[in-house]
Amino acid sequence: MNTEQQIHQLREELRDHNYKYYTLDAPAISDYEFDMKLKELQELERKHPEFYDSNSPTLRVGGEITKNFETVVHEHRMYSLDNSYSKEDLLDWEKRIKKLVDGDINYTCELKYDGASISLTYEKGVLVKAVTRGDGVQGDNVTTNVKTIKSVPLKLKGNFPPKFDIRGEIVLPYEGFAKMNQERIAAGEEPYANPRNTASGSLKLQDSSETAKRPLDCLLYNITGDRLEIVTQYENLKKARDWGFKVPVESKLVTSIDEVLEFVVYWDEHRHNLPYETDGVVIKVNDLQQQEELGFTAKAPRWAMAYKFKAEQASTMLEEITYQVGRTGAITPVANLEPVQLAGTTVKRASLHNADQIEKLDIRVKDVVFVEKGGEIIPKIVGVDFQKRNQNSLPTIYISECPECNTPLIRKEGEAQHYCPNYQGCSPQIIGRIQHYISRKAMDIEGLGGETVALLVNEGLIKNYVDLYELKKEQVIPLERMAEKSADNLISGIEKSKEIPFERVLFALGIRYVGETVAKKLAKHYKNINAIIEASEEELVNVDEIGIKIAQSVQEFFDSEENRILVNRLKEYGVQLEISAEKLANQTDILQGQTVVVSGVFEKVSRNELKKLIEDNGGKVSSSISSKTSYIVAGANMGPSKLEKANKLEISIISEDEFLDKIK
Ligand code: AMP
Ligand code: ZN
Repeated sequence: MNTEQQIHQLREELRDHNYKYYTLDAPAISDYEFDMKLKELQELERKHPEFYDSNSPTLRVGGEITKNFETVVHEHRMYSLDNSYSKEDLLDWEKRIKKLVDGDINYTCELKYDGASISLTYEKGVLVKAVTRGDGVQGDNVTTNVKTIKSVPLKLKGNFPPKFDIRGEIVLPYEGFAKMNQERIAAGEEPYANPRNTASGSLKLQDSSETAKRPLDCLLYNITGDRLEIVTQYENLKKARDWGFKVPVESKLVTSIDEVLEFVVYWDEHRHNLPYETDGVVIKVNDLQQQEELGFTAKAPRWAMAYKFKAEQASTMLEEITYQVGRTGAITPVANLEPVQLAGTTVKRASLHNADQIEKLDIRVKDVVFVEKGGEIIPKIVGVDFQKRNQNSLPTIYISECPECNTPLIRKEGEAQHYCPNYQGCSPQIIGRIQHYISRKAMDIEGLGGETVALLVNEGLIKNYVDLYELKKEQVIPLERMAEKSADNLISGIEKSKEIPFERVLFALGIRYVGETVAKKLAKHYKNINAIIEASEEELVNVDEIGIKIAQSVQEFFDSEENRILVNRLKEYGVQLEISAEKLANQTDILQGQTVVVSGVFEKVSRNELKKLIEDNGGKVSSSISSKTSYIVAGANMGPSKLEKANKLEISIISEDEFLDKIK
C-alpha cells in the first residue's frame, strides 16, 4: 500500500468509527485506539500536504479562525413554524388543510429539538456548506465550526442524491452542558445559562478549535432539494439516517390527530429522559405531494405545526432573598421559596443570577413568583404574579456590602456580578479557596472534607491552604466528629499531598480562570512556578490557548504580595512547584503512537521497569499481540505461542538492548 492509499484507508476507518461513536452511540474501538489512528493520520498528512482533503477527519479538531462570518442567501428559505397548544388548535389546523388537499392525511410526529437551526448543503456526498437560519432568507456561513461537530458527516454513505440541503438543529446535550459548566465554575467563571444559547453561541466562535471542544450534537429532520425521489416525510427521515445523518428514532407515523395527541402526551412526560432538550412536537403532513399542494404562508409551512410543551412551571411565594459569596468573591443572590413541587422534585431555592435580573423582573420579597425548570441545573424565577402583589411592597434594594464581612461590594465594568473585594478576610472566600485546594481534581487530600475545612477556619486553626501543612494532630482531635484515627488520616493525607504533581498544584492555587486544562498547559510550558511568576502578559498570551483574560488574571494573582508569600511557604513545605526533574529527564514522546508488547525475561531492567519506560516515553503497553502491535520487546524465553502469533502477523521482535537504544 502506498502512502496515498494508506491515508485514504485511515480516513475511511476514522470516518466509520466517528459514525459508530457519535451517530450510532455504539463505538467499535477504544478511545485510545481511535486517538492513535487519528495521530497516525495527522502525522501522514503533515508529511504529505499534497494529499490534503478539506473533509479529512483530522479537521474535526478545528483550528481555522473566522473573523467575520460571510452572509449566505438560502437557496430554499428556512421557515418558522406555527404553534398550537391544544387539541382544538390541532383539529382546526386539520380542518383547514383538508379543504386544500384531497385524500386522507397521515402525519409524522417528531420531537422539536431546542437548539440552533442549521442548513447543511451536500454536493456529491460531501459537506460543502453549513449556514445558520438567520432571518430565514439569509444566514451566516458557519461551515468551519460545524465541521468540528462529530455527528455531522463530512462524507455520506449509501445512495444519496448529487445535491441537496438538509436541515436540523445543533444542540448541546445536558450532560456535556453540565460538564462545561462544572469546569467553568471550577475555574471561577460564571456558568452558562442554558444549553440552547450556548449551542448557538458556539457556532459563532471565531476559533473553530474552541467549537471543537464543545460537546455539540446535530439532529437532522428535513431534506430539501430538487428531484429527490422521496415521497413521504417518514421516508425522508429514514433516507437521511441511511446516508449517515443522526436522525433521532423517536419519530412516529400516525393517521389521526388523536394519535398525534397520544404522542404529545407520551413525550411531555418522557422527554426528560432524552439526552437533549426538547420544547415540543412537530407534526408534519407525511405525503410530500400533499405538502407541495399546501405550500407556505409568509412565515411558515401550512403542512407543519408545532405543539409546544408547557414549560414546567410552578408559582410560589418568595420568602427571602439571601446572598452567597463564592470562593472568588462573586455574589449570587438566591431566592428562598416556600417549598413547591416542580417536575418531580421539591424546589426550595432558585437562582436570581444578579442585580440586573432582579431589577429587570422587578422581583420583591413576599411576591408570588413563577419558577421554571429548563435545561438549567438550578430552577430559575421567570416572572412575578403582579396581580398577587401586595400594594405596599417596595422594590428590592440590592445589597451594597458583603453579607459575610461587611466590606463594600464592587462591580467591575462590563460584569454582571458584584464582588466582595476582601480577598484575605472574607470567610466564605477563605473557606472556598481551601475547599478548592483540597478537592479531588486539585490536591485530592484524603481524610479532609469541605465541612472540616470550614471548622478549621472557624476555629482559627488555619487561614489559608498553606496553614494546612502546619496542623498538628493534637489541634485536630478536639474538633467535632474527630477521633484519633480520623485525625491521623487527615494529617497523613495532607502530608501525601506534597507528592501531587505541579500541574495540579497550579490548578489548586485557585487562580481565577485557571482551570485544569489551562493549568496543565502552563505547567508544561513553563516547567516551574518562578517562570510563570516572571512571565510577562505578552509571553503568557503566546502560550497555546492562553488568552488575555487568563494572562491578566495570572499576573494579578502573583502581583499580590500575600500570594507570593503563600507560594514561597508552599515551596518550603515541599509542595511540588516544578515539574519533577525525574519526570522531565525520563519523559519523552519518542514512542508516541506505538503499542508495544513485552514478553520474556530481561537482564538489565525488570519487566515492570520496562513497561514504565515505554509509558514514560509516550508508548502504550499491551498484553496481547494483535495487528495493532507496533513491535515486541522480547527477553529470554519468549512464549512459543506468542512467537507464532508474531510471525503470523509479521510483527517485528526486538531485543532489550535494541529497545533501550531506541529511547536513549
Ligand atoms: P420556532 O423557532 O419556535 O418558530 O420553531 C421553528 C423551529 O423549530 C425551526 O426553525 C427548527 O429550527 C426547529 N425545529 C426543531 N425540531 C424540529 C423538527 N423536528 N422539525 C422541524 N423544525 C424543528
Ligand atoms: Zn466579604
